[in-house]
Amino acid sequence: MKQSDKYINDLIDFLNASPVNFLAAKEITDRLDKAGFQRLSAEDSWQLHPGGSYYITKNDSAVIAFRLSREGMPKRYKIISAHSDSPGFRIKPKAEMTGENGVVRLNTEVYGGPILYTWFDRPLSIAGRVILRGETPLSPRSILLHVKRPLLIIPHLAIHFNRAVNDGNPLSRQKDMLPVIGMINNELENGNLLQQLICSELNVNPEEILDFDLSLYDTTPACLLGMHDEFITSGRIDDLSMAHAAVTALIESSDDDDTRIMAIFDNEETGSGTKQGAASPLMMNLLRRINSLTGGTEEDFQKATACSFMISADNAHGLHPNYPEKQDPTNHPYLGNGPVIKINANCKYMTDAESAAVYRTICENAGVPYQYFVNHSDVAGGSTLGNILTSQIDLRGVDMGAAIWAMHSVRETASVIDHEYIIRSFIEFYNC
Ligand code: ZN
Repeated sequence: MKQSDKYINDLIDFLNASPVNFLAAKEITDRLDKAGFQRLSAEDSWQLHPGGSYYITKNDSAVIAFRLSREGMPKRYKIISAHSDSPGFRIKPKAEMTGENGVVRLNTEVYGGPILYTWFDRPLSIAGRVILRGETPLSPRSILLHVKRPLLIIPHLAIHFNRAVNDGNPLSRQKDMLPVIGMINNELENGNLLQQLICSELNVNPEEILDFDLSLYDTTPACLLGMHDEFITSGRIDDLSMAHAAVTALIESSDDDDTRIMAIFDNEETGSGTKQGAASPLMMNLLRRINSLTGGTEEDFQKATACSFMISADNAHGLHPNYPEKQDPTNHPYLGNGPVIKINANCKYMTDAESAAVYRTICENAGVPYQYFVNHSDVAGGSTLGNILTSQIDLRGVDMGAAIWAMHSVRETASVIDHEYIIRSFIEFYNC
């Protein structure tokens, strides 16, 4: 099997196991467990050993893993960051809305910025976490839910009721986007379908259920396509393909001169401002704790961060064949032409000439092509994790990602070979 086949088949498994942020974090920690990483809990005392491999989680939806240098106290951190969340729909409390003839819809709230109409007429289901009663009010239990069978659909209005639908059709998030979960058989089911589902899926009693963080996902699995299987299409490629590349590289890299870190944050799609997001003190606290537990002083810490480097990995817009005019005339990345270095004059990205040069050299050493993305000057672009972290920690780094089509659609498309290129560049970074 070719290396690109191995990585892409593994990415397909990763995407299918990760319908939402919580399950993505679980899939990442399962892989870390299998690779011999030790789970640490923020509330416990830690014993760190030189050359050891560890990870922490936050809110069941963010994961930071690290492999200590063989000397113990870090002289430099090599960090790759990505995010676990994707745009979609979250189920509101008291969600069930029973209408005519017993048809039940779920009341949902939009999370982040999905392309709404890509969610119509698909077999959807539910995943996330359910919070159960614990021993004390301050310690409820959390349990993951992944309903695998198709369960819901957001049916589109027939064209016969709106002949102008193909000329542009503004959508209401509250009226147009509610999914149907089924029809009630009897009055006992009225308002209780979701509770019945949770109880039967998790084998718990209704009294145990206190709350939930549940979202919709598209049950259509990830797959390859194209005459030569050159593309991969799936939900959540932004940013789970980068999370997969980061965890794969952390596990496969072997050089223990430096401390290697992989940070997968949640809530990037809503601005990162949560306790499990990149704007939280999570990363800063972890680095300080590693430094002090390995005998470092405050000065050692500041010396180490000052010569550290971060790759902020979040996907980029590849040139769309139908809309080449949307891209910058001289810096437009293509699917299949390698990792994309993202640059913005107004500093939405952390990339500067020096950090771009670092990553470019890493790509050259890995034998991987690279390309640049800069916004068309009349188009406002997005932002990502890098700058949010550098506002707290004195770090240099680069923003990069894979070129994809249809970012924030329920299905995005990326290139198979790019995924191998990116993993190779990440392994080279950790080993350089
Ligand atoms: Zn992203």
